[in-house]
Amino acid sequence: MINDAHCHFFSTQFFATLSKQRGRGDSAADLCRELQWDDPGAPEALADRWVSELDTHGVTRTALIASVPGDEASVASAVARHPARFAGFFMADPSADGAVERVTHAITNLGLRGVCLFPAMHHVGLGDARIERIVEAASSSPGTAVFVHCGLLSVGVRKKLGLPSRFDLRLGDPLAVSRLALAFPSVPFIVPHFGAGLFREALMAADVAANVHLDTSSSNSWMRYTPGLTLAQVFRSAVSVTGPSRLLFGTDSSFFPRGWQRGIYDAQKVAATEAGISDTDQERIFGDNFERLFAERAGP
Ligand SMILES: [Zn+2]
Repeated sequence: MINDAHCHFFSTQFFATLSKQRGRGDSAADLCRELQWDDPGAPEALADRWVSELDTHGVTRTALIASVPGDEASVASAVARHPARFAGFFMADPSADGAVERVTHAITNLGLRGVCLFPAMHHVGLGDARIERIVEAASSSPGTAVFVHCGLLSVGVRKKLGLPSRFDLRLGDPLAVSRLALAFPSVPFIVPHFGAGLFREALMAADVAANVHLDTSSSNSWMRYTPGLTLAQVFRSAVSVTGPSRLLFGTDSSFFPRGWQRGIYDAQKVAATEAGISDTDQERIFGDNFERLFAERAGP
């Protein structure tokens, strides 16, 4: 069983939001044409496209991330249409008015399962009381995870569209995630991309807090910050600290026509095998761990 803990749902609303930020009055379809990506259409159509893509590659379930604040409804319709295939995650901006209410609504009424925080993007540190209130809201609904992007943050689509990305990388610190994780031990925390450059800190966080998980997603190009580091070494070190149950396979797939990134899966399978990870433990990493955290629930 393959489950992917990290896919983005690039909906029409997602592109409309980026267009609004750029301020040139383009429609979502205009933006897709400019990017040479497929126009996603209605969320239901995009959800169906994802399902057929997953079927092609033998992927059972994925997390789908609403990738701009305010796009929870798109992912919620995808999940409602294919509850057996998707777990809905969403980006929350803790600096926005009514952020906690939005999060509570998304979790309790829309049935979404992961709150995604991007401290470097939203300029709210992990020690901020606004973050604490959001994590508190997540903790009141068992089965809800908090995803915290740490380390290098680079959003490809923003670059392509020439949107400014004034990210404060100091705010995405896995050590600050460990403090929150210790304060909320029942909440699963996910640090994507092995900490995206802050690998050592991500391992330290996972070592002190048993509810910190790492996702393996993306090309992990942060490895270039440590000369000579290989993906097999990353897998070996990660498993030695987290054990096989707190690593979640992910690709970071996002737009069509590229679709699900099979190449990332293949490279990670090779690396995990090279790292000496047993078949049973690989089954956990590439499928079972996700299922344990995000098993389908009946209704929102
Ligand atoms: Zn991503």
